[in-house]
Amino acid sequence: MSLKVCKFGGTSMADGNIIAGVKKIIESDASRRFVVVSAPGKRFSGDIKITDLLYGCFAELKKSGTCKQAFAPIRARFVSIVKELGLDFDIQTVLDETQQRIDEERSEDFTASRGEYLSARVVAEVLGAKFIDAQDVVFFTADGALDGEKSYKAIASAVAGCERAVMPGFYGVDADGKVKTFSRGGSDISGAVVARAVNATLYENWTDVSGFLACDPRIVDSPKRIKSLSYKELRELSYMGANVLHGDSIFPVRRANIPICIKNTFRPDDEGTLILPSNRYVSGGNIVTGVAGKKNFSVIFIEKSHMNSETGFVRKVLSVVEEAGIPIEHIPSGIDTMSIVISSDALEGKLEQIIEGIKTAVQPDNIRVTENVALIATVGHGMSSSVGTSARLFNAIASADINIKMIDQGSSELNIVVGVNDSDYEKCIKAIYSEFFGS
Ligand code: ASP
Repeated sequence: MSLKVCKFGGTSMADGNIIAGVKKIIESDASRRFVVVSAPGKRFSGDIKITDLLYGCFAELKKSGTCKQAFAPIRARFVSIVKELGLDFDIQTVLDETQQRIDEERSEDFTASRGEYLSARVVAEVLGAKFIDAQDVVFFTADGALDGEKSYKAIASAVAGCERAVMPGFYGVDADGKVKTFSRGGSDISGAVVARAVNATLYENWTDVSGFLACDPRIVDSPKRIKSLSYKELRELSYMGANVLHGDSIFPVRRANIPICIKNTFRPDDEGTLILPSNRYVSGGNIVTGVAGKKNFSVIFIEKSHMNSETGFVRKVLSVVEEAGIPIEHIPSGIDTMSIVISSDALEGKLEQIIEGIKTAVQPDNIRVTENVALIATVGHGMSSSVGTSARLFNAIASADINIKMIDQGSSELNIVVGVNDSDYEKCIKAIYSEFFGS
């Protein structure tokens, strides 16, 4: 029997009329039984998301001891949502309690989580469904990771015998019972946790776009929609900046092989994008599934003759970076050379220390740094079985007169990453897209 968990993002919660549309979507399909919601998002460009207003509340609370003033626009927003929905629901009392608890708790995570809490209270009312507070069923371990097993059990028992239930996304509680949020956009993970807990046949993620596009629509006009992609392709594309879905959302559903479907609240009949477990994935016939990238990386280039025969060379270099607490993105290497690619933001203020550390640790013949590098990943399962893909890729980049500074092919042959100048970023994405998808 079909059982769907539906997560509705911030734009799907933006105002009362949109929430009325969400109600229609849910009620049009009896298998849409469990709902996870985000905090209300932007209604128009320039508007401020409720979650951002809440972070503002916390800043005010720290300064003045109360969030009262900064809470006012949040109050107004929820009052108008309830009014637009024509609900007979005493939101003022809920808002009073919320404001008071924010002042008492004095916790940034607690404050930020209230957007989802209030959304879910409203949506539960609209649907006449049970409200399940994420603080009772979503748990983190002492080291801050999601405690999957404990959460799945608690959710399953909270929804037992319940026709329809609504849970706020984005938060749970830590090992001390204090409210803790996921990283930004984390309601997607909450939806996946619920999907896993109830063993859903499908996790529907409702947003404001009709699925994943093969590349960033701000760079290429109306790029093709990706009909289906695998969990692995999703990880690669989201990591590289395609931000339709939080990249960590697949972890809870992966073990249970639950597919995810990205759907558009504003065009519910559009097919969307289906994200499938890698073993159920059938390629749509495309060699490349998508192209994504990010700017602003630094490459530390290290050269030393006979590097490859010097035991422990790579370990020593990596320890220097590790000790500085900096994550590494890529490590392309040759016989006498290795490069380390690091996000420039992470390196800020630490570059000198790292260079000196590497010099002391391995005495390189030469060490230099190139900044303002953009990384562009071309992703697709089809690439591993298709001869000449990299030739086409590099030709396309060369024909656009772009100099490649670095190449890294993932060991799964699922992606090829190139590093180019930040200033060539858009041009390079356009060139790759037009080679594999036509212009
Ligand atoms: N409201 C949170 C954010 O803005 C979480 C979410 O929307 O998923 O990041």
